[in-house]
Amino acid sequence: MSSPQKQRDLVQTIQRGMETSTLDALRKENRQLRSRLDGLLKQAHVNEKKLRRLQIQEMNLLGLDSLADVISTLTVDYPRAFDLLQVVLVLVDSDNQIQKLLEQLPAGAHQFQGVMLLPDMTALEEIFHNSPTPRLGEYNPAIHAPLLGHTRPVPLSVAMMPLLRRGRLIGSLNMGARNAERFATNKDTYFLGRLATTVAVCVESAINHERLANLGLTDPLTEVNNRRFFDQRLEEEIMRTMRGKTSLACLLIDVDYFKRINDSYGHQAGDSVLRQVAAVLRQHLRGQDVLARYGGEEFVALLSAATLERAEVIAERIRMALEQCAFLQDEGKSLRITASIGVSVLRPRQHRGEFKRLGMELVERADQALYRAKESGRNRVVASA
Ligand code: GH3
Ligand code: MG
Ligand code: MG
Repeated sequence: MSSPQKQRDLVQTIQRGMETSTLDALRKENRQLRSRLDGLLKQAHVNEKKLRRLQIQEMNLLGLDSLADVISTLTVDYPRAFDLLQVVLVLVDSDNQIQKLLEQLPAGAHQFQGVMLLPDMTALEEIFHNSPTPRLGEYNPAIHAPLLGHTRPVPLSVAMMPLLRRGRLIGSLNMGARNAERFATNKDTYFLGRLATTVAVCVESAINHERLANLGLTDPLTEVNNRRFFDQRLEEEIMRTMRGKTSLACLLIDVDYFKRINDSYGHQAGDSVLRQVAAVLRQHLRGQDVLARYGGEEFVALLSAATLERAEVIAERIRMALEQCAFLQDEGKSLRITASIGVSVLRPRQHRGEFKRLGMELVERADQALYRAKESGRNRVVASA
């Protein structure tokens, strides 16, 4: 047997051994904790950067009130700011009100390529079902293309964020990313959800702002633009025409012997005819053309990038359509009308002078042509020399 001294030595050796292994274990655990902490700190740092970037973009958005600016921030600036392939703003527009608002903006609806208007909620409900939370995942053209459009290159992952106002789905903000990892299904959606909330508020507020502004620029009887709107747009159209070095045509359309319609059928029948005339005119113009009620039974149209020949063809089509249209009255009876149209054009080589004066001259020449159409028997198109 060992001496007491040996026994003590043995105990000490065992203790030291235990201390060493405990220390090693503690050190290992410490290293693991540190590395986890580093990871968390890194993530917090990334999140902080993300949050700061998001806040800057949100502040930008909250500072805008024009619909055109909100749309271009979302669909043109955001892809760059967030390094995305595309951002598409989808909005439910069951009564075509948003489409009309976009058409009336100086840029015209065709400029807003990142906007998709839906006639109803079906496509959105298919994505969000009953739980409107951001949806992330691999790009699937069958599911996502209808709400993102077909772009090249196609995204590898997508985020679809519902836009909600007072619990109602008003649209979605859809993003396409270059890589599969960006919007992988397991990614946290806190930032995207927060962005969607801000976007929904800004979009709704910009639409309301535009609607209000529009009320003062729309003719309540025919629901086409009024003279005030026309005067504003005329200058903008002239500027655009000069920048693009194209031509701009003007049509003045005046219903023939309209007074007789009021006299024979009553003022209400006259009103109803005016509404139907406006509808016929709208059908014959493109989205980017400007149509306005110029006064009483007189309408004006601006056809962008149209030559005199082209404008005459369109004016003739309108004249024939009005002549052939049976204008329905309340009692189910119908009546016929005709119209005279004066056409003028601003040609590229005429682009000199200030915009306001050029606009007034353009309308003045259409008016003189209209006068000649009336003088020479009505129901005809006359072009300004
Ligand atoms: P012309 O072929 O020379 O253009 O003859 P006209 O009868 O159309 O032209 P005139 O300028 O003599 O009459 C225009 C009429 O349009 C007179 C006015 O009472 C009517 N009018 C103007 N605004 C409205 C409206 O909002 N509703 C109705 N029902 N009539 C209107
Ligand atoms: Mg008339
Ligand atoms: Mg008139």
